[in-house]
Order: sequence, then structure tokens, then C-alpha cells
Amino acid sequence: MTPSALPALPGAPWLARVDGELRLEGHALAALGRRFGTPLFVYSRQAMRAAFDAYEQALRGRPHLVCYAMKANSNLAVLQTFARAGAGFDIVSGGELARVLAAGGDAGRVVFSGVGKSRDEMAQALQAGVRCFNVESEAELDTLNAVALGCGRVAPVSLRVNPDVDAGTHPYISTGLKGNKFGIAHGQALAAYRHAASLPGLRVVGIDCHIGSQITQLAPYLDALDRLLDLVEAVEAAGIAIGHVDVGGGLGITYTDEQPPAAGELVARVLQRLDARGHGGRELLFEPGRSLVGNAGVLLTEVRVLKPGETKNFCIVDAAMNDLVRPAMYEAWMAIEPCQLRAGESSVWDVVGPVCESGDWLGRDRSLAVQPGDLLAVLSAGAYGMAMASNYNTRPRAAEVMVDGDRVHLVREREGYSELFARERLLES
Ligand SMILES: *Cc1c(COP(=O)(O)O)cnc(C)c1O
Repeated sequence: MTPSALPALPGAPWLARVDGELRLEGHALAALGRRFGTPLFVYSRQAMRAAFDAYEQALRGRPHLVCYAMKANSNLAVLQTFARAGAGFDIVSGGELARVLAAGGDAGRVVFSGVGKSRDEMAQALQAGVRCFNVESEAELDTLNAVALGCGRVAPVSLRVNPDVDAGTHPYISTGLKGNKFGIAHGQALAAYRHAASLPGLRVVGIDCHIGSQITQLAPYLDALDRLLDLVEAVEAAGIAIGHVDVGGGLGITYTDEQPPAAGELVARVLQRLDARGHGGRELLFEPGRSLVGNAGVLLTEVRVLKPGETKNFCIVDAAMNDLVRPAMYEAWMAIEPCQLRAGESSVWDVVGPVCESGDWLGRDRSLAVQPGDLLAVLSAGAYGMAMASNYNTRPRAAEVMVDGDRVHLVREREGYSELFARERLLES
């Protein structure tokens, strides 16, 4: 039982190779794949809890709320895990609010983000009593005011400010630049706060930003925080109390050789900057998604066919872009490991799915010793994996399992074929 001397796998220490066998919280992944079938997502509950605790520990003694950005992985058992740990939630739709409530979460700890909330979603969130709306435009202020007055409530609002800082990440997941659709321009924020304060259906409770995802540096956070605090000072000087400061989410994880700051380090630096600027007592919110769940999950898949070729060798597996779209959509690199090491020569393979698209790949140019029937694990698949899965090619979505110490829970059954077209109708003639 000697753990391998190779560099730690992303997801360590919960994910480890022992005697050639890949294990998550001590559970052999190959055995889980055989038992529940593939493709299969497997999550470590302890890894999720530890990731959350890293934020909590660093924030101890400070007024704060860590809101899990649940779009990263919205399985009910995942939400339940964070709700029990004391998390709030960052939601972006009415559907996500329904999930929080179904998982036993508290609406009073929910912040509602998103550039295009519908009136129905606003009313639903007001009825549920969310902690605040992260408002993304001046037009949304007016709509929310009208909806709130219509239901006889006052909507708590924070303005999502676009600080115009470059998070240094993939263009699809950079959100804090002038050219992005998100947030209210820094230069218009003071006027927007004045407008919000003048509307009877709204109550200003905070300020927020979210500058991007998979961020691996501290500087963009501190720049954004400075920009927010400049505004807090200007808005409060105009007689409008701000309340909390929400610095968003976006902290990166290790997929390959990235070395993002640890959550504790990010929090410590943010607190240091708050203190230095005389805002130490102010309530601080974070909205982490990926950094709470990404390294806590893997996607298991079985090798179906090996197809060596003249210029490329293809390793065709039973998981595809519909199960895990990150490689196809963001050209994301995700580690792929055999669940059980086998003796023999490695070859270089493109690991691809069975979907009818050349963009359907999980990893390119991977050196692997594999045979048909072997199980592979795509690592760091706990975030933006199942949450972005689709039924493209009429493929049932994968099952999900959560391990927790010596327990194994099936937290989502595999879909069946009939469910895939249950809502469709044949023509009558
Ligand atoms: C997606 C999102 C997050 C979380 O981003 P991660 O990169 O997963 O941490 C936080 N806040 C808002 C508003 C988001 O849209």
C-alpha cells in the first residue's frame, strides 16, 4: 500500500494511486465504474468540505458569507453538503433557486446573479426571500423595482460593477472587462446607485463583481477590490450606505501545471487590502464555484475501441462532449489517468468520444498504455462537467456517485432512453 512517488494528482490527497489503482477517498475507481457503469461522475464529499473549509477558516472572526456558485455543479447532494457546512449560494436562474430549496438550503443566504433575470424569476426570488439581487444593469433596477412593488416587497440589491480588469484567463470565461456583457460600468456605478436609492421598491445592501473564471493570479482580485472600494467610498460619501462587498468567484484549480493561489491565501490578501483601506469591519462575500468542487470529482469512462492510424491514434471511449464539454468548448486540458495501471508500452492517443463531431475529444496526444475495456478517469471533472452535460446524439446523461468516508452514495441515476423523449409528441396525422 505505497502511494506512488509521482507528482501529486490534481485532487490529492483524496485522489491517490495505490498499488497501481486509482482511488478516491480510498475507493477504487475501477470498482465503482464496474458497479455503476460508465460514463460515471464520482465526487469526494470530503474534498468538497475541505475546499469550503479553506475559505471559512481564512474568514474566521470576520463578518462573511461564502456563497457556492452552484452552476459549477448543482447536484442536490452537492448543494446539501454545502448547505450543511453553512454555505450560502450564488444562483443565476429560478431553476437554481428551486434546487437550493429542494436541497434544504436557506433562501436568506442566496445571492441572485445573472444579466437577464426574468420578471417571473425576480418574483420567485422575492417570494422566497433571497438575501440579495446582484443587479447587472440600470434597466434591471427599474424592472426589479416594478416587480417588487407589484408583490408588495422591497428588493435587496447589490450592483454588479464591471471593474475593467483583465483576469488573464480564457476569453469565454473573462467577465470583468469593458467589452464583456456583465455588470455596470465603473464610471456609471455612482449614478446607478443614486438611481437605486431613489426607487421605493429597492434597498441597497451591497456591491459585487465577478471578473472571470479559472483565475490563477492574485493581482486581478486586488485590482478589482481596489476599484470596488473606490466606489464604496464615493457612494457612501453621497449618503448611500453600501453594506457588504462581494468579490465574486473565479479562483482557479490545478488541471495540469497551473499553480493558483490557495483559497486561504486569496482570502488573506483580500482581508489585508480591506484592512489597509479602513474597511476591515465590512462584511465580505465570496462566490466560489470551481475551486470548491473542481478537484473533488472525476469522470470515469470505458475504452471501447482502439483505432491506430497513419497520423493519429484514436482511443475511443464511452464518454463524450455531451458528458464533459470543457475540452471541446474551451480547449481545456484535463488529465486522463488509467484507473488501473497496466504493464506494457504506452502509445500516444487522442482520447475521443463516440459523438459525431470532430470536436468531440476529451484529451489529445496522451501517452497511455490502454486496451479496450479498460477504465480511464478524467480528473478535475467536478466543476462544469455534469452541470454542462447534454443529451446530444440522444445520449442519456451519466450517473453521479458521491463517496464520503466508507460510504458510497448514488446521487443521480443514469438516464434511461424513454426519459430522453418523454416530452416529445408524434403528429396525429
Ligand atoms: C460562474 C460565477 C461564479 C463562479 O465562478 P467560478 O469560476 O466557478 O468560481 C461566481 N459568480 C458569478 C456571478 C458567476 O457567474
